[in-house]
Amino acid sequence: MKKTVLKSQLRGLALVVALGAGLLFSDGSVLPLVSAQNLPTLGDTGREDLSPVMERRMGEEIMRSLRQDPDYLDDEPVLEYLNDFGSKLLEVHQEARGEMNYDFFFFAVRDPVLNAFALPGGFIGVHSALILTAQNESELAAVLSHEIGHVAQRHIARMIGSQRQDMLIPIAALIVAALAMHSNPDVAMGVAMGGEGIAIQRQLDFSQSAEREADRVGLQIMRDGGFDPSGMVAFFKRMQTASRGYSDTMPAFLRTHPLTTERIADIQSRIQADKFKTHVDNPDFQLLRARVQVLQDASGQGFVDAKAVFEDQLAHAALVRQPNPSAYYGLAFIAYKQADFITAQVYLDKARKAGQQNSFFYTSLAMDILLASQQPVAALKEAGRGLTEFPLSRGISRQYADALIANKRVDDAITYLRDQTLLYRKDAGLQQQLAKAYALAGKQALQHLTLAESYALTGAVSPALDQLNIARRSPDATFYDLAVIDARERELQDRWKDEQTEKNKQSL
Ligand SMILES: [Zn+2]
Repeated sequence: MKKTVLKSQLRGLALVVALGAGLLFSDGSVLPLVSAQNLPTLGDTGREDLSPVMERRMGEEIMRSLRQDPDYLDDEPVLEYLNDFGSKLLEVHQEARGEMNYDFFFFAVRDPVLNAFALPGGFIGVHSALILTAQNESELAAVLSHEIGHVAQRHIARMIGSQRQDMLIPIAALIVAALAMHSNPDVAMGVAMGGEGIAIQRQLDFSQSAEREADRVGLQIMRDGGFDPSGMVAFFKRMQTASRGYSDTMPAFLRTHPLTTERIADIQSRIQADKFKTHVDNPDFQLLRARVQVLQDASGQGFVDAKAVFEDQLAHAALVRQPNPSAYYGLAFIAYKQADFITAQVYLDKARKAGQQNSFFYTSLAMDILLASQQPVAALKEAGRGLTEFPLSRGISRQYADALIANKRVDDAITYLRDQTLLYRKDAGLQQQLAKAYALAGKQALQHLTLAESYALTGAVSPALDQLNIARRSPDATFYDLAVIDARERELQDRWKDEQTEKNKQSL
């Protein structure tokens, strides 16, 4: 209980740009504390903005903690869909990446409140409820474009930069706050929003003009991306209706920054001149929603509820004589989660038959079922087909490596993964998978060297240096390995020094 109150008190420090609402995590459990001693202090009066380097650093730091939160949806197909979708939006608005050319990262968190948020440095999160409520891709595009708008306009950096000297807020506190906000109804708001919290929150709240600016940029991104701009109005209206339901337990941010009717009217007037545009959704969108429907509640009851939803959908589909592949897919996914692989396969076959086209969602689940039910040969076959059909799917290429390993072809898996790391140099997950493959092959030096790379890619320089040290002491380290280790160590140490200098500049 005490922890909950602490988290809620910190809620006021929210360093998140939300869709006119607060970021809420419904974990209520672990509060992953970050390495506070390594973090700089905010409150530099000398400069206007947080530097892009520091902004990214902060974002990475928050993400490292967030990834350990049980409500972070660490689900390959969901992440793949969101990031493909997000990069399509960014394609038409490259300048949103800013001077640092940020790699944006889109992710989902388990949360029943309709919301989305942007963290510093181009990390954009969506709540599971939002994905389930969005009725089409244009509505999802509206939300993500708005958040991209906040990043593009550097709202976070400017907000932090504008802190007064007497409001020095350690970044650690901000990170804790960003993670802490959650909609636990048994916490009285009076306690949650103690005086100091409110004062700090006012400092950090986004102004209505920032919200409008994000709406404006977001709308432009939607138009250029070929989405139906009226999706923004439709979705904001949905949010407005939903926020009435939050009543007294509603987070302060939502109460002080409601999605005003004027804001919606403003968007409406902007799109009046637009020609009516229909956007044909990718069928994957419905598969995404089915998957999130299952993932949003990992309890046994959650599966029962999700099953009822899909059965309802199928009954309706039969009535109107329209196939509903995503409902079958949802049932297949539940059966897989319950380790009933035979039923899972039956439903997956039905989904594929009902669907007009194949999807990486199907292939990925097929692989999961085959691997979990100890059918390595069939899994490898499926993976081969999947790679041909979805050559750009990172998830399927990862499963392909898993299938190689399941077939006791560890060396082939290593060769394949090494090639992949050359293609996708910034993919930390890939490095982790390669490290595991090295471990299976008993190659210790390479295992730790690769782990070091994976840490370095998420901005964790100090753990990366630790791994290099372990790699150096590994009995199988060759002269060549040692040379690579030394070179990497020097690079990382330089980076570490640069960051310290930057931090000192920032907190002077
Ligand atoms: Zn916003």
